[in-house]
This record gives sequence, C-alpha cells and structure tokens, in this order.
Amino acid sequence: MEKIFDCIILGGGPAGLSSALYCARAGLNCAIIDTSAIGGTPVNYCEIENYLGFDKIKGFELCEKFENHIDNFNIKKFEYEEIKEVNLKSEIKEIKTLNNTYSAKSIIIATGAKPKKLNIKGEIENIGRGVSYCAVCDGAFYKDKTVAVVGGGNSALEEALYLTRFARKVYLIHRRNAFRADEIIQQRVKENKKIELILNSTVEEIIAKDKVEEIKILNNKINKTSFLKIEGIFPYIGLEPNIELFSNQVNFDKFGFIITDCTMKTNIEGVYAVGDVRNTPLRQVITAVSDGAIAGVEVSKYLLNLKETIKKQS
Ligand code: NAP
Repeated sequence: MEKIFDCIILGGGPAGLSSALYCARAGLNCAIIDTSAIGGTPVNYCEIENYLGFDKIKGFELCEKFENHIDNFNIKKFEYEEIKEVNLKSEIKEIKTLNNTYSAKSIIIATGAKPKKLNIKGEIENIGRGVSYCAVCDGAFYKDKTVAVVGGGNSALEEALYLTRFARKVYLIHRRNAFRADEIIQQRVKENKKIELILNSTVEEIIAKDKVEEIKILNNKINKTSFLKIEGIFPYIGLEPNIELFSNQVNFDKFGFIITDCTMKTNIEGVYAVGDVRNTPLRQVITAVSDGAIAGVEVSKYLLNLKETIKKQS
C-alpha cells in the first residue's frame, strides 16, 4: 500500500522549510514537494538585512542554512516534481505530480508568489532579451550598460541598488512620487549617483529588435510621453500568489491570496497555508518562517485530535 504521510508541505521556501522543521520535531512523518529546487524565492535576493541574527546575508546562503537545518531530520524532499492536481477536500489528501501520487492526512500550502507582470507590449516576448525579473540572476549581463527598474517597493529599490554594481546607469521608474520601500533603502537609493529617479511615470511599451532598445514612458503628472534608451528592464511591481492548483477548493481574498486564520488554517479541515501565498500583512522571510512554525504546531494538534476522534468512534 502506498505510504500516507502525516503532512505534505507544498513548496520548499522559508515558510515550507520552517513548517517541515516544526512537523518533524513534533514526530510527524512529513514530506516537501517542490516544482523546482528547495530554497524558494529568497535564493534570488541579493542581500537580506532584516533577518534577525544576520546583519547581512546573501539570499541563497540563508536558504542553504535553512535546508541544512532540516536535513538533520527524516524529512522527505521531492524536488523538481511538477504538481498537476491536488485534492484537498477528502480526509486523505492527494497530490498528483507528473510521475507520482502522494497522500497525506494534512497539507501545508507554501507555494509562495511570483513577480507580477507589467502587462505591456514588448514585455513577455523579450524575456531573456532584455526583460528580467531577477537582478541577481541576470545583473552581471549588464556590465557598463544602462538599465531601468520599475516599482517603488523594497524589491525595486534593493534590486536597483544591486544593479549599480554592474550597470553604468540605473533608471528607477515609479508611478508615484513617494516610495513604499523602507526608509533606510530609500536613503541609499537617493545617495547613489548611478541611480536616476523617474517619478510619476509608467512604462507603456518595451521596444526591441533583437534585444531591448528603448521604452516608452508616460509622465502621468503632465500627461507627456517620452522614449528612453536602455538595454535592460527589471520590473519589480509586486507579487501574485501561486494558487492555480487550489482554485475551487480553498477560499481566497480579493487579491487572490489564500485566507487563513491566525493559526494558518484555511477553510478546509487539515489544510493550512503559510508565507507569501496567504493573506498576510507582511511578506518577509522572517514572517514566512514564523508562519511555518505556527502551522507545524497546529498540524500536530490537528492530527492528535483526529486520532482521538477515530479512537472514540471505533
Ligand atoms: P510591493 O511592496 O507590493 O511594491 C510594489 C511596487 O510596484 C509599488 O511601489 C507599486 O506602486 C508598484 N506597482 C504595482 N503595480 C504596478 C504597475 N502595474 N505598474 C507600475 N508600478 C506598479 O512589492 P515588492 O517590492 O515586490 O515586495 C513584495 C513583498 O516582499 C513586500 O511585502 C516586501 O516588503 C517584501 N520584500 C521583502 C524583502 C526582505 O525581506 N528583505 C525584500 C524585498 C521585498 P505603488 O507604491 O504606487 O502601489
């Protein structure tokens, strides 16, 4: 008979790894399934400065430490498993991947979020030819070149700063005249001579032949269009949750994030959601890890109650 795990965690980012640690320490047999390698989005963060205990640490180093930590426990890791279908509503939950079917008494959804697209002409068709959503992965290709970063949050400002290591010039284009990034990052951006701010402006089109050559910008204050020559563009305009697999099962808020209570419980018995995929007020590594801890403990309580209920019924 196929093995039934106590808990399967979908996603191996910080929230998933922390969930696994707490499940394993509660004596549960658990598994992590990820469509790519363990580590999650922070692998691509240049530097993390707000994870308590580390003044400054590269994203991939922190994720490596997380993974090394959980490797001390008997946690099954199924990497590069493309999940095709999930059945969360039955008592025994089922996860179908391209090649396997996994069963579990409980599920923790930790599938994270992906970068939002600008949805403008020239964007999708030029990914890899000047359009990138990952400065850490692609920044080195822009040595002595001119690039643009779009957005006004922590990601846009942090990655604009990172790109100044390579690029000759970095335009930071934001649709308003006030940033939402942390004050300390805003200060660094303002002091960096390689960064030029283009405020109250949106990018309307990315123009390319073989590679990106220029962008069309609308200044929404004076309603004037202009063109800017650049060789690369990095949109950092927020995140959208990876929830496609769960539609018609768990409940979502109006932005598409999974609704949980403060114990990470969704509307379905035995199904929890943690990290960037849920309706959290803050999407940071530290809050993702905290969500995972809560979910791990709650899952162990849920399974204990389930066991007692079954005992009483028999
Ligand atoms: P964010 O904080 O949601 O900011 C998105 C930015 O993009 C906003 O400035 C927004 O403008 C702008 N924007 C949204 N849609 C746009 C559009 N269609 N066209 C042009 N601009 C658009 O997103 P984020 O910076 O990606 O960060 C996501 C989450 O990760 C945040 O919670 C952030 O704090 C967190 N984060 C954490 C770390 C860390 O832990 N070290 C690092 C990076 C990010 P408005 O301001 O006008 O809305």
